[in-house]
Amino acid sequence: MTTRYASLLIFALLSGCGVVDHFGGASSKLPADIDKLSSDARALVERSLSDIDPAKMVDYHVHMLGTGTSGSGIYLGPPLTSSLQGKAMATLYSSGGGIKNDDNGDEEYVARLRDLRQHSPLNGPSHILAYDETYHTDGRLFRDETMFYIPNEYVYELSQRYPEEFIPVISINPLRSDALDELKHWAALGVRYLKWSAPRMEFSPGNERFTAFYQLMADHGIVLLTHGGPYSAARSAAQGFGNPLHLRLPLSLGVKVIVAHSASSGMCEDLDATSQPKPFVPCFDLFMRMLGNSVFEGLLFGDISAVLNSSHLGNPLKELLGHPQLHSRLVYGSDYPGPAINIVISTSDIAEQGFITEAEAKALNEIYDYNPLLFDFALQRTVKHPETGARFSSAIFQQNPRLP
Ligand SMILES: [Zn+2]
Repeated sequence: MTTRYASLLIFALLSGCGVVDHFGGASSKLPADIDKLSSDARALVERSLSDIDPAKMVDYHVHMLGTGTSGSGIYLGPPLTSSLQGKAMATLYSSGGGIKNDDNGDEEYVARLRDLRQHSPLNGPSHILAYDETYHTDGRLFRDETMFYIPNEYVYELSQRYPEEFIPVISINPLRSDALDELKHWAALGVRYLKWSAPRMEFSPGNERFTAFYQLMADHGIVLLTHGGPYSAARSAAQGFGNPLHLRLPLSLGVKVIVAHSASSGMCEDLDATSQPKPFVPCFDLFMRMLGNSVFEGLLFGDISAVLNSSHLGNPLKELLGHPQLHSRLVYGSDYPGPAINIVISTSDIAEQGFITEAEAKALNEIYDYNPLLFDFALQRTVKHPETGARFSSAIFQQNPRLP
């Protein structure tokens, strides 16, 4: 979230619940009523499905959130509970994720996600993300800087309860003193994906002290899904940890890496530059540099989540659409509940930049009103390069053959 959105949300928080829902989860219709879509909106959904098998569709990036009410161990940390901006952000995500009552937050979040999935033609699995705590460099828990905590046990248990719907993505902060044991534990249970946000969890993925951790990941074929670029809710001193160039270490050790959002926002230090001081360039350019390196073919991937967010929209989307030869390296992720939060994506801005037509924006807004998860998928299937008309290839939205 950008500061501009945070300010809006603080306003919303102060103004009461109706305003929060206007900025946040603004869908007003039931997913079960999706049959009531207008013929134009229905035609757009059908077009978006025309060349994919809905059963093979995979969403590689779905957040689990909650309030800890199910005994899950979930908690929101001080960055989300002690400042007005943090509280605004938490309120926004709760609203987008369909949590109406904090006393029942875990259950309502899962029920809403399952409702959206079930009343959609998309039947493939969602990768649901755990989110580890922040640690000091000496391995001690740093609770004051933990934004939120989603335990591995929680996502694993949900994947066992709903095996057709959810694939567990664990999260282990590699600074933890028990990081290797934790990784072995989940690998033995068959988990094949691990997520982290290095700027928020405050470590550099390029730190060689993590070599044994990466080797164990590679040995078990565990894929790393990592936030790419700076992270709006992280401390400024840690923002550089999102630099895609740090990922050369895990890649060189044979770990498959998916860079979330294809690092499509923010500026990163070009650590390869010989000039001093080293220049800052778009993080996306560094991601593309890495993607273009044939050594990382089959190892490095990007997800296309958030590339349509107002804070990311522009050149990265154009570049990704304009390089179809790279589409086998891209996977679909919704970053749910992101697209359900009304102020995160502006269809009118997307239309203004020529990625969709005004008529498509209208149809997509209608879909959002019933089902924001289907909206995100249909939007990503509809966007086209403003000059060439190139679209994302259908393969992006299905199981990638090079990933487990
Ligand atoms: Zn995310």
